[in-house]
Amino acid sequence: MSNTQTHHCLNCARSEKDVPLVNLTFAGQPHWICTQCLPTLIHKPYLLANKLAGAENFPVTPED
Ligand SMILES: [Zn+2]
Repeated sequence: MSNTQTHHCLNCARSEKDVPLVNLTFAGQPHWICTQCLPTLIHKPYLLANKLAGAENFPVTPED
């Protein structure tokens, strides 16, 4: 197929060729985030608010 698409991390923009990417869906849209940025999405989603619209409203999992 000629329409293969390379996905990129929504935070650091590294491609799936360089890092493992995790697929997620939010607001009906698919997104990809790498495993290094995933903890940020979990613990400090507000840091991604300018990259993932609505992330500032995510519930924050407290770090202990
Ligand atoms: Zn990343």
